[in-house]
Amino acid sequence: MPRSESTGASFHSIVVIGAGLSGLQAANKLVEKYPDLLLVEASSRLGGRVQQAIFAVHSIGGAWHTTVSALWRTASTYFTLSVLQGLLQEVNCNLREFDWPDYWYFGNSRQLVSGDAKVSDEELERLHELFASVGQRVRPEPDISAAEWLRQEGASERMMAVADACYANDFGCSLHQLGLSEMITENQRWDSGDTYLILDRPLQALVQHLSKGVENNIQLQWPVSRIEYGPEGAKLYGPSGSVVQCRRVIVTVPIMMLQQERIIFSPPLPAEKTAAISRIKMSNAVKVIFAFSWPFWPTGFFDVVCTDSFMPEFWVTEYPATSSDPATAGLCCMVGFVAGARAEEISHLSQTAVITRSLAQLDHIFGKRSQNSPGNPRNMGLLVLMASRRGDFGNVSLIFRFIAKQGPIQASSRKHPATAAFVRAHVEDWSRSPYIGGAYSYPSLGARPGDRESLAASLGDTLFFAGEATHPAVNPCMQAALETGERAAAQVLRASEHVPSKL
Ligand SMILES: Cc1cc2nc3c(=O)[nH]c(=O)nc-3n(C[C@H](O)[C@H](O)[C@H](O)COP(=O)(O)OP(=O)(O)OC[C@H]3O[C@@H](n4cnc5c(N)ncnc54)[C@H](O)[C@@H]3O)c2cc1C
Repeated sequence: MPRSESTGASFHSIVVIGAGLSGLQAANKLVEKYPDLLLVEASSRLGGRVQQAIFAVHSIGGAWHTTVSALWRTASTYFTLSVLQGLLQEVNCNLREFDWPDYWYFGNSRQLVSGDAKVSDEELERLHELFASVGQRVRPEPDISAAEWLRQEGASERMMAVADACYANDFGCSLHQLGLSEMITENQRWDSGDTYLILDRPLQALVQHLSKGVENNIQLQWPVSRIEYGPEGAKLYGPSGSVVQCRRVIVTVPIMMLQQERIIFSPPLPAEKTAAISRIKMSNAVKVIFAFSWPFWPTGFFDVVCTDSFMPEFWVTEYPATSSDPATAGLCCMVGFVAGARAEEISHLSQTAVITRSLAQLDHIFGKRSQNSPGNPRNMGLLVLMASRRGDFGNVSLIFRFIAKQGPIQASSRKHPATAAFVRAHVEDWSRSPYIGGAYSYPSLGARPGDRESLAASLGDTLFFAGEATHPAVNPCMQAALETGERAAAQVLRASEHVPSKL
């Protein structure tokens, strides 16, 4: 590692700060030209907001993995051209497409309704139309929240509840936090599509793939606390007095880290950028990943959006029994997801309370009407048949073992299927993640047109910015993170064509 004679600090052409998808993508695009590139990451692992939950099932000694961030919602036409598509091809990954959501649960009336029925639900139809065509509206001045906008449109309480649980929760916030102005921008610039694209493997596979090309350039547990920058380059201050010097820096940290001034910039960032940083918001998200011994939900079920409920969304994921231990193979996985003001409130609850309340909600949703109860002999046979057809012999043995242990199913299990089938759960509260601090940026009430561009703007030829919040189309997804990483790398390459590197 080359060292500066005057300071003893190591010297690099490029330093990328943050090893999430944007930082990894940027580093990948630059490492060939700059083999001395350094990627510094504050935490002890790669991937940032793409993280796997690991369940160790102690009693039987196996390990069971599932993914915390598992899906994309991206229009197929856009997707075909995207950075993401290229990446998935490189890892030989297949996708499945699901309607989103395929069930609704109306908490007030305790009604579970198949999504197919939504065509005959005029209120739901109208709501979808309003959100789908929001880009045709004129930006309000001053900005108003989505809650206010829907009120002006004469939306009923039921429509508001659906908008909050479905749209706002997906945006990573609550209805009163969601800003109409940025929603309009997003709708004009980004085609989110109506379906979910699900990978055939945990997302960690993408992180591993991206890190392959740069594994010798990574420094973990190196939180940057100060950046001194100027036209000639930058000096970065890390842990225990360590210092790194470089010609150019790409900053990819979550916007919450910039808002909390966890990195001090010297000279301070320009007023336009700091104003944008203060107006673009990021709330919290909590994911609860459940392992169940049998699937108590209807056959073919994928996702349910729940109004007036503790947890606004649950979906099932088939990922995967990575353990070779047949005792853990075949456990069924379901994910609960809550964002925004509700997730901030949930942060104050104990993990046990979060799990218990989620299970109670699932019992209400699927209780009694559960047709998949393994205690029902007809369904037992069906489950075994389906599992054998899939070649899923772990599941077959699991079902038989379940019956051997439990005997004939109790009526209470039909009433409380989630509680009866519960094995364990993992609660991931993103506000507690020290170098992330929450979920992802959302179309923010009060953000001004051009704020995302200001956040993304580079400073001279030295300081470049990437990360989901810097995407001008406001979609805070993994695709946006990858695209901004690619954009920053292209900016660095252009800058180095104009100004010869001093190294
Ligand atoms: C619960 C949840 C669910 C999601 N679901 C989906 C989904 O279904 N589909 C989808 O497309 N997207 C989803 N996302 C969004 C997606 O995960 C993110 O947009 C994307 O991963 C962000 O990547 P990034 O590189 O911009 O930021 P990050 O992944 O946050 O990477 C930034 C990195 O910077 C590091 N860092 C912070 N401070 C410092 C410092 N001072 N010095 C050095 N390093 C630092 C952090 O540790 C982190 O590793 C979800 C996110 C969450 C939290």
